[in-house]
Amino acid sequence: MPRLRFAPSPNGRLHLGHAYSALLNADLARRMGGICRLRIEDIDPARSKPDFIDGIRTDLAWLGLTYPEPVRHQSRHMAAYRTALENLIARRLAYPCFCSRGQIRTRVASGAVGGERSCDPDGAPLYPGTCRNGDPGAVADRIAHGDPHTWRLDVAAALRCAGAAHGYVAFDDSGERRVGADPARWGDAVIARRDVPTSYHLAVVHDDAVEEITHVVRGRDLEAATDLHVLLQALLELPQPRYRHHSLMRDAGGEKLAKSRGSQTLADLRQAGVTPEAIRARLGFA
Ligand code: GLU
Repeated sequence: MPRLRFAPSPNGRLHLGHAYSALLNADLARRMGGICRLRIEDIDPARSKPDFIDGIRTDLAWLGLTYPEPVRHQSRHMAAYRTALENLIARRLAYPCFCSRGQIRTRVASGAVGGERSCDPDGAPLYPGTCRNGDPGAVADRIAHGDPHTWRLDVAAALRCAGAAHGYVAFDDSGERRVGADPARWGDAVIARRDVPTSYHLAVVHDDAVEEITHVVRGRDLEAATDLHVLLQALLELPQPRYRHHSLMRDAGGEKLAKSRGSQTLADLRQAGVTPEAIRARLGFA
């Protein structure tokens, strides 16, 4: 049976872009004779707030969307992410990185590593590999000493391990097609943050597998991340879902809707007297 999911991060209230994604997932699940689960992606301890989780549940119920229980909250599964991370560390596919964002920016900008100045698909400077071949004794000392560090995927080692050719099946209403993936464009991506033993990338591939998700439907802003996700799936021997990356809602100025830009929320619209039916109609799900 097809299994989809809507996976918001509770670091703000939902806006029309989330409503579109949630309604599309529900609509596709219904058309495919499957189910759609809700997952709360709350790995960020500083930005995730219980009030936002309550808000998500209220907004989705208001839109007429219900989900099978129990709903998975990522913050409750840190031990599982740690196990996945330790698997990659034990195979020397991940290494600790002590660099701050500022240090990375400075290093990349100064060309200190002699590489090309380039960015990852999100526009962040590509990590220059400073900590990749750290002296094992010194690294162990720093970790024992409690020095803050992320864990990065050694993408070259990962590609040697999992093979260089990656891709996935993308689907839309007109059918399926094979898409090539280029995980290396993310460089040595962070797979575990300083504060928790995972990053979005590791947690999402782990959870899509645990929840047996067959079809991932999410915004186009995450399309490039799928390249990294298929590499992680290969390394961790996880099944690969099919993917659909939908277009993003834009505001009148052409900017993508975002919590950080203060886009009008579903709660604002509700307060202003807009009905769920009007939202559905506006988003093409009447
Ligand atoms: N939690 C992510 C977000 O709110 C979505 C993750 C996904 O669908 O893979 O942007």
